[in-house]
Amino acid sequence: MTVTSLVSTALAEAWALVAPVDCAGCGAHDRALCPSCVAGLQSRLMRATLEVDGSSLPLVAALPYAGVARRALLALKHEGRTELARPLAQVLLAAVTAAWHGSGAELLVPVPGSRAAAARRGFGPVALITRRAGLAVTHALRPVSAGPEQKALRLEQRLATDAGRWRASSRVSGRRVLLVDDVVTSGATLRAATRALRAAGAEVAGCAAMAAAVRRWGESSIHWEFFAVDDERHGDNEPVEDYREGKEA
Ligand SMILES: [Zn+2]
Repeated sequence: MTVTSLVSTALAEAWALVAPVDCAGCGAHDRALCPSCVAGLQSRLMRATLEVDGSSLPLVAALPYAGVARRALLALKHEGRTELARPLAQVLLAAVTAAWHGSGAELLVPVPGSRAAAARRGFGPVALITRRAGLAVTHALRPVSAGPEQKALRLEQRLATDAGRWRASSRVSGRRVLLVDDVVTSGATLRAATRALRAAGAEVAGCAAMAAAVRRWGESSIHWEFFAVDDERHGDNEPVEDYREGKEA
């Protein structure tokens, strides 16, 4: 048994004490996450760049948005399985650690979810996960409330004015920030957040996300590749296209 699997088993046992629930990954009884699903949350770091108004924003994600990572995040969001925030925090921490290193960032700024969804659930998933990860974050982004004139816009017009969906606090002025999000899909949210932060005078160093949706054809043009922090200088990265999940339910 490796050290990693020992630690994983110990963590899984600890989570099992929280509540008599079924594994969010596979449905096995009496564990929030069984040892094999905990192992499925082992980070496989991925990176990409996102073009935002002529500059390239480096993105790091800990895992593809698939399998256990996807099921655990959905269970947290839609079934209120908040005990999953702790194992997911370890996933986010891996991405933040890799993205923070060498970025020159001074602040971590989470991308807030919709206020309506947070009010319905009673918690914001990203806020909860960053808290469980013990990360000191600066809540600098606020959604711009839709005025009557904005509500009257048709969908295409609203998408065109997407850049105005967030407003950033003046606290970030002159600071270098790293964005933190749960899942990167098309990158539209990150672009909007980056524009809002830049408008407030911040420099955006990049984004760390728990997971990246790599196979949503037509929705994402982001090209992800796996990398290992230790192998970074050797240039033998595995392209994500070679990745096969094989057991997505
Ligand atoms: Zn399981």
